[in-house]
Amino acid sequence: MGSTHYTITPVSVGTLTIDKSQQIWGQGFGTKIDIPVLMFYVEGGGKRIMVDTGCSSPESAAKYHYPFIRKPEEDPTRALEAIGVNPGEIDIVVATHLHWDHCYNHELFTNARFLIQRTELQFAAAPFPIFANAYESTIAGMVPPYSKTKFEVLDGDFDLLDGLKIVFAPGHTPGMQCVVANTARGVYYIAGDNVGQYENLEGNRFGRPIPGINFINLADYYESFRRMERIADHVLPGHDLRVLDQARYG
Ligand SMILES: [Zn+2]
Repeated sequence: MGSTHYTITPVSVGTLTIDKSQQIWGQGFGTKIDIPVLMFYVEGGGKRIMVDTGCSSPESAAKYHYPFIRKPEEDPTRALEAIGVNPGEIDIVVATHLHWDHCYNHELFTNARFLIQRTELQFAAAPFPIFANAYESTIAGMVPPYSKTKFEVLDGDFDLLDGLKIVFAPGHTPGMQCVVANTARGVYYIAGDNVGQYENLEGNRFGRPIPGINFINLADYYESFRRMERIADHVLPGHDLRVLDQARYG
């Protein structure tokens, strides 16, 4: 994994209320849960990296998606300021995937390289109808939030920096990518939406880990789980409130 150590700081930009069954396949129907919309700030070796960049305005989120609450301090710029980060100083933005709650606010990161998987960009342009809303790509009158982003397009795994890797991990979406970071406390796996909740890792009667209900290909999803378990000492889920219990990882 290299010798450089990184730290990982989760940053909340608001809270969605959704049905639990969306996060945990086959269970929790009718049970509402609050899930944070998270960005992850990664720092090490003199580099500053963002993994995902949050969602749209509270008004747009509530109009097109789910009930959404954003506290004033969860405004993306303010939330980054609170942890001492100036978005203009971010070197690299990794978009795990292009669902609406992961890829807004790119305009804040004025000096960053933006990395996406080719398969994700292709799928986002013309998703199956049941996923069109999640990508905001074919909602009447809307343009996708990443429409002005000049992406560097990746095809699979990518060694980003010493001690920091991008892992191609399809499942939740066709071009999902996760970030693996070497830290002083072991290898952390920033899982995006392949693992929404810690409960996905615990599994259920179908075994563990367990996917969410939103997936494109279960064979890929389970292969991505197997790789994750081989690589990771610790997994950071993409939408679990408990991720925020600790200010910083690594
Ligand atoms: Zn997603």
